[in-house]
Amino acid sequence: MTPKLPLPTPLSPGACIGIVGGGQLGRMLALAAAELGFQTHVFCPEETSPATQVASLSTQANYDDQPALDRFANSVDVVTYEFENIPVATVAHIETLKPVLPSAKALEVAQDRWVEKSFMRDLGLGVADFYDITSEPDLRAALDATQGEGILKTRRFGYDGKGQWRLKANTDLDAIMAELNGQPAILEALVPFEREISLLVARNPTGDTATYDALENVHKNHILHTSTLPASLTQAQASQAHAMAEKIAKALDYIGVLAIECFVTPQGLLVNEIAPRVHNSGHLTQDACHCGQFEQHIRAIAGWPLGDASAHSNAVMTNLLGEEVNDWQDWAAQEATYLHFYGKTQAKPGRKMAHVTRLTPRR
Ligand code: AMP
Repeated sequence: MTPKLPLPTPLSPGACIGIVGGGQLGRMLALAAAELGFQTHVFCPEETSPATQVASLSTQANYDDQPALDRFANSVDVVTYEFENIPVATVAHIETLKPVLPSAKALEVAQDRWVEKSFMRDLGLGVADFYDITSEPDLRAALDATQGEGILKTRRFGYDGKGQWRLKANTDLDAIMAELNGQPAILEALVPFEREISLLVARNPTGDTATYDALENVHKNHILHTSTLPASLTQAQASQAHAMAEKIAKALDYIGVLAIECFVTPQGLLVNEIAPRVHNSGHLTQDACHCGQFEQHIRAIAGWPLGDASAHSNAVMTNLLGEEVNDWQDWAAQEATYLHFYGKTQAKPGRKMAHVTRLTPRR
């Protein structure tokens, strides 16, 4: 393994933060970085992207273009990323030149559902029962163990419900195996959850953490529709959530903002998945918390003291997908409502175009 480069922390305003990936998360990270006086350099394959519109510098190149990665790494002080399917080889290459935060370890755990669930189980945290699936006999045996029902998920590259199949007693397993087409997968037992929440925790190089109150999420067609702060949790669940988030961040020796999606069940919290980055469900922290997740991530990777993650308001964030963005005038007329556009020109169905956050007083 390549030895990790020491962090040149704390970074002073004027330093340059490299961001791999050009989507809306990269855009909002670049905006937050600019607020703290940093330059940003976005690296992404797309010609135009939400993030490059607001960054100081940008490189358009593929993730395996080593000369371009070298030029990018040499132009920045620290590198972060805004999506978890970035090839680990890309991160490993950049890491030979500049610190990459969060480290490749978090990425490796988050990129593979088997590794991720095993990691959580080994930490003593609750997860749905899960089984490794490489063949149809594996799948039949796993379905027997889960009373004939479950969710089949590809181990890698699944998002927004893609690479997932809900299996029931009468599901045609041959057809499913054909669709899976040899990709490694896991079968998860169906969790009868009461609600879905996400936890956001930030950790800096000194090991300080700042944990946000849990957010409650509602999905529509497998895509996040709304996130609400606070989530409806008992005091015991809220404490469990807080402790879980800190335990995971510490076990990963994590630096940056980490998102953890969980199921709330009568028996306690089960971890569904983690994202080693800022998260869509945390967008409302921009407007409802003293220090939002984007500024917090920049503070953490720059080695600054973490900001105050507590909320000054309650909030509901709604994603505007596809043509829903055309309703912006209605949203703009509402009080205590904050609009955030991503600069995308084509409103394709289901595409995240913008989000709005409505604040209400904290009771
Ligand atoms: P994921 O891609 O793992 O985040 O799953 C997408 C959505 O599918 C989750 O937000 C849940 O609504 C649902 N889901 C995933 N896994 C399970 C499970 N084991 N039991 C019940 N629902 C699930």
